Amino acid sequence: MKKKITARREVLAELREDFSLCGKCKLCQAVMAQQCEDPRFWRNCPSGTRFRYEAYYASGKMEIARCLELAEIEHDEKMKHVLYTCMLCGSCEDRCYPVKQLHPLWVIELLREQAFEDGWAPIERFSNIYENLEKTGNPYGVAPEKREEWSKGMGVKNAIEEECEYLLFVGDDYPCFPSLIPKIQSIARVLKLAGVDFGILGKHEVSSGSALFLIGDRDRFEEFAAKNIENIEKAGIKKIITPDPHSYAVLKEEYTKASDIEVYHLSEILADLISKETIKPGGKVNMKATYHDPCRLGRRHGKFEEPRIILRSIPGFELLEFPRSRKNSLCCGGGGSVFFIEPEFAKWVTKERIFEAEYIGAEAIITTCPICERMFMEAIEETQKNIAVYDLAEVLEKSLQGVI
Ligand code: SF4
Ligand code: SF4
Repeated sequence: MKKKITARREVLAELREDFSLCGKCKLCQAVMAQQCEDPRFWRNCPSGTRFRYEAYYASGKMEIARCLELAEIEHDEKMKHVLYTCMLCGSCEDRCYPVKQLHPLWVIELLREQAFEDGWAPIERFSNIYENLEKTGNPYGVAPEKREEWSKGMGVKNAIEEECEYLLFVGDDYPCFPSLIPKIQSIARVLKLAGVDFGILGKHEVSSGSALFLIGDRDRFEEFAAKNIENIEKAGIKKIITPDPHSYAVLKEEYTKASDIEVYHLSEILADLISKETIKPGGKVNMKATYHDPCRLGRRHGKFEEPRIILRSIPGFELLEFPRSRKNSLCCGGGGSVFFIEPEFAKWVTKERIFEAEYIGAEAIITTCPICERMFMEAIEETQKNIAVYDLAEVLEKSLQGVI
């Protein structure tokens, strides 16, 4: 590989100011209260809210970092649980940094990396992911040929064999779950309706490495990133669209360090086409629904407005806001790769978000992340709730059909 991607941004010790100066003020446990009128929804740290002990909040993890550095404590099973039940949702970062100028999320991410480097990360609990990645190049164990089946008969270009302006980087989840296949197909149809010239890597797209990145295994992440970069360069494409915020985050934050590429989330491309009136949603979609901000797209990359531009452009669509929205948004439960090892806790968070949607009278939850969509759909199926889940592209497609 030409260039190392994941040279660590910094080591944990370099954030000493951050974890030493944490005043345990607890601001990071809640939303920005001025922007959330109902106290029922003030708590916003999923792991702290669920497990209650101080250690599970950001302040506890700051203290763990401080104590580990000073060798006051040693890692143990409890510490692993604390560190690996954090959803990496970033709500704590958004509360702490503007007031205290500290970075609790960075500390937590580097603590996970430290756990890998020092050999105490609970790697055995992620053995399924590792086996699947080894056998199939995908954390869910779906074979490469099967991962491109969704596109059969849709006239989608193969980016390695045909020239195209954009690569549609599909990500780990959409092609692997039957419930998500109609959503990625809708995404491809919307891009075609909008006249975007795109292709896919198909069976040559391997995992973005996001799951490995989240658990702190930067070395393995690098192997997967290198394979994708090799194929992106083979395809000669410089512009990438992805509908998956987890892929978006690693492509944008890490792949761009090693390759000369531009990375866009699907919502950016579609909002831009709508703003320029290249596409005009004209068909009525009578729906009263709420938009869920995926943590990696919203809080992490500030893409709050683009999805809302798309939804507001649709005639008949009534956009409701969650009490916790935008920077205050609650994680869907799918963050931090926690669902791989603590599925019941993850689902508990998802159910809380669904309750919030019901509370405001939404008949559907719209989002633009395959993990959020799958978490919501599985929890709704289990609880027999009467609420639908749509990908942003599915709602737009309803309006665009024949009305460009
Ligand atoms: S992480 Fe920041 S907001 Fe949270 S307790 Fe520490 S100083 Fe306060
Ligand atoms: S990243 Fe999210 S789950 Fe983790 S400590 Fe911060 S607010 Fe809590």
